[in-house]
Amino acid sequence: MNASHKRFLAQGHGKTGPWVDLVNSEEWDTYGERTDHLSGPVWVPFFLRQWRFAKPSRTARPIRKLKTLRAALRKSCEALSAGRRVPPAEMRVLNQALNVTGKRQLFERQNGLRLEFVPARSGWDSILAETARSFAETLAGGEPRRIKICRNDDCRWVFYDRTKGRTRCWCSDKSCGNRERVRRSRARSKRLLAL
Ligand SMILES: [Zn+2]
Repeated sequence: MNASHKRFLAQGHGKTGPWVDLVNSEEWDTYGERTDHLSGPVWVPFFLRQWRFAKPSRTARPIRKLKTLRAALRKSCEALSAGRRVPPAEMRVLNQALNVTGKRQLFERQNGLRLEFVPARSGWDSILAETARSFAETLAGGEPRRIKICRNDDCRWVFYDRTKGRTRCWCSDKSCGNRERVRRSRARSKRLLAL
């Protein structure tokens, strides 16, 4: 594993599901500086490896499709984290991505039998479909209210809040959470000085 893969893991990539990682492949640092990992050379191979997607053979990455799905995921996450529903336009994009042919098959896995979907063709369309499926399953079977966006407006990192009381507000306590604490305590001391 190389240094950038380690950095992605430390940031939280490769843990929750492909959908979270795709949304966060458009990354703002805590000061609002944007990086688009879809256009770079490192993130996509990491994403494919981390989620065990077969590397598509010789086909160029469909940047437009990836960006359309990513934008739909972000809009959906923004709506959900604000207590609203997934908007119809984003539902259409998700359903479009899900629309690949294939078959259902039963597999004996380490933790027992699993019903899985095997796409008729491997490649980018099936990767997009799997990514959309991971989100759809969180919506339909998980707890969509746990989908949140970092409270720092400059950061916008999307995460799935696993805390018991759904109390997590920040991508990380060390970066954005800490920055907010510093900001608050500065504001407090300013107020005290003004007294
Ligand atoms: Zn953040």
